[in-house]
Amino acid sequence: MLEQVTVAGGGTLGSQIAFQSAFFGKQVIVYDISEDAIEKARQRLANLDQNYRRDMQATPAQLVETHQRIQLTTVPEQAFSHRDLIIEAVPEVPTIKINLYKQVATLRATNSILASNSSTFLPSQFADETGAPAQFANLHFANSIWQHNTAEIMGHAGTSVDTIHQLTEFAKSIQMVPIVLKKEQPGYVLNTMLTPFLENAAYLWGAGIVDAPTVDQTWMIGTGAPEGPFGIIDKVGLRTFYSIESQRKGNDPEYQPILEQLKAMIDRDALGVETGHGFYDY
Ligand code: NAD
Repeated sequence: MLEQVTVAGGGTLGSQIAFQSAFFGKQVIVYDISEDAIEKARQRLANLDQNYRRDMQATPAQLVETHQRIQLTTVPEQAFSHRDLIIEAVPEVPTIKINLYKQVATLRATNSILASNSSTFLPSQFADETGAPAQFANLHFANSIWQHNTAEIMGHAGTSVDTIHQLTEFAKSIQMVPIVLKKEQPGYVLNTMLTPFLENAAYLWGAGIVDAPTVDQTWMIGTGAPEGPFGIIDKVGLRTFYSIESQRKGNDPEYQPILEQLKAMIDRDALGVETGHGFYDY
């Protein structure tokens, strides 16, 4: 069982992964690049208390124990030696990830597993840089992991069966639902479905075919789903959605009016739930 866990990168997702792991009994080290980044990670971890109290019925004692199981460090030797599992949650920038993998390669224990939380990169892109490709796979969490508790597990062709098995057991042990992919797939399972869904919804609105509430109403009545695509876009945040769509549709003339209208919403701070206004008011 993977018990000694390091999370590299204490940002939005890294702090959640660290907290969830410690909450379910793992000994966790959070590694980040500077004292300033560590301080921010510490603050993110403290802020998660309220979420676990509200959504996980965490008791004061459980929260104290959770924090006691988490250490924070900027020292690579402390973070990467003698660990069972190293979860990488550094920014989505290839050079940053590769540098980290090379650093881990020089320090890691022979049996340790390295897993990336990358949203967009495939493990085959970096496997050779890790120095131990058989012990490398992606382990992808969703934002608000204690609630949206899927863990998508995606190996590359050279990932060992044992690595996938151990990551699956680890995910279960921290109350995630493991979703094991049999092959590499950009976007994993969820985003392979969600991204084109949201994109087509935005098209129906942006091309003036129907308004956003009508799109959502159609989806909800037609499928019985509790919310529609624009409710989801408001939660994801208009900025993130716009950035994904700019990459996918930036060169598609038919989609330009949609991108422009999304941009106009961002310019007037209608970013979704986080600013209280998006396609809906909150
Ligand atoms: P973030 O920007 O919030 O956090 C990144 C953290 O990495 C920061 O604390 C930063 O100081 C640290 N960092 C930067 N360089 C580093 C280095 N060389 N070594 C160690 N730490 C370093 O990013 P995030 O949103 O948490 O995303 C991290 C990863 O998780 C990305 O791969 C992203 O694709 C993935 N992800 C993000 C989300 C999301 O909703 N934010 C969801 C799923 C997956």
